Amino acid sequence: MNTIYLDHAASTPVHPEVMETMLRVMKDHYGNASSVHAFGRAAKRLVNESREQIALLAGCRTDELVFTGGGTESDNLALFGAAKANRHRGRHIITTQVEHHAVLHACRQLEKEGFELTHLPVDKYGIVHPEQVEEAIRPDTILVSVMYANNEVGTIQPIREIAEVTAARGVLFHVDAVQAFGKLPIDTSKLAVDLMSFSAHKINGPQGVGALYIRQGTPLDPLFFGGLQERKRRAGTENIAGMAGFAAAASLASRQLPVLGEQDELMRLTLLQALQLHVGAENYHLNGHPEAGYRLPHIVNISFPACDTETMLMNLDLEGIAAASGSACSSGSLEPSHVLAAMNLPQIFLRSAIRFSFGLGNTREELEKTAEKIGTILNRLRNRR
Ligand code: PLP
Repeated sequence: MNTIYLDHAASTPVHPEVMETMLRVMKDHYGNASSVHAFGRAAKRLVNESREQIALLAGCRTDELVFTGGGTESDNLALFGAAKANRHRGRHIITTQVEHHAVLHACRQLEKEGFELTHLPVDKYGIVHPEQVEEAIRPDTILVSVMYANNEVGTIQPIREIAEVTAARGVLFHVDAVQAFGKLPIDTSKLAVDLMSFSAHKINGPQGVGALYIRQGTPLDPLFFGGLQERKRRAGTENIAGMAGFAAAASLASRQLPVLGEQDELMRLTLLQALQLHVGAENYHLNGHPEAGYRLPHIVNISFPACDTETMLMNLDLEGIAAASGSACSSGSLEPSHVLAAMNLPQIFLRSAIRFSFGLGNTREELEKTAEKIGTILNRLRNRR
């Protein structure tokens, strides 16, 4: 059976160029980057070159970038690192109701450790407004954490405007840019953001490697203790193949960013038009912002009220089509998404939402076929009732 992979927001296929780079590194470079001999120096050179390439895409200095074991670790390092280094200034942290669990669950732990959290609500599109951030800031607020773009619905937050608020109030600002990096032009040098999280596997790089941008001078405690790697900000022997793969993926993304953005828009349009044809506009609802510029092009979240999420995902899977729910899977049952709930969507939309996300390797024909199969699945269910 031909399979169709529409879950790129969860993880992407590794680009052949990235794979080639990684294989070469694994074959030729086995020295430890901390060793002083020639093998170690070669590994160190690779770490430096990889960092340069990623810094270029992020618009930052190389010493402002720390490699991590992925987006979750970057978020944790940002939140715990900033909270601990600034606890003498205050204990209040602001985030939003629509963050990824890497942020939300880290915040829950910080609450247990004595920090006070404010979770800002969002509008019906999933947007947090800068005025809400302004109003929530207190004299003891030390950190604000807002994601660049949402992983479930793709909604883009007004990061520039929020950064102006936090900078004016002297509060640190962390941005989880895991979904936005490589998809939207991000220039940290032009944003008043202090910390920004990235991950390689969302941009056709390897899983288990990421980075955290730490603006020069930002106070941050490390999470790990051990060697002196990453300027003492992240101890542990470097994952050089992962770093080189991340760098190759970042460099591909920066070269292809505008073209791929247009391609994704076209894919999105194809899916929506095909759904109109095969499902009928009255039988589905688009969740998130409808307008380009306010949403990522490659994530489309749609509710099909006649079919619950689990049934639709299972039926699609039987057809060889991989999509996702926006929900966390706990003990085998799907919990309604906290993101869609925060957007105040009716229960029927919450219980029937599917996330389609596309990219490398997908064709418009695949999206047409997906819509056609959804039409068939819905008809089958209708006839059974
Ligand atoms: N933040 C967001 C917005 C994400 O979408 C994800 C992954 O889905 C993460 C953080 C976690 O990143 P990683 O999978 O690299 O740990």
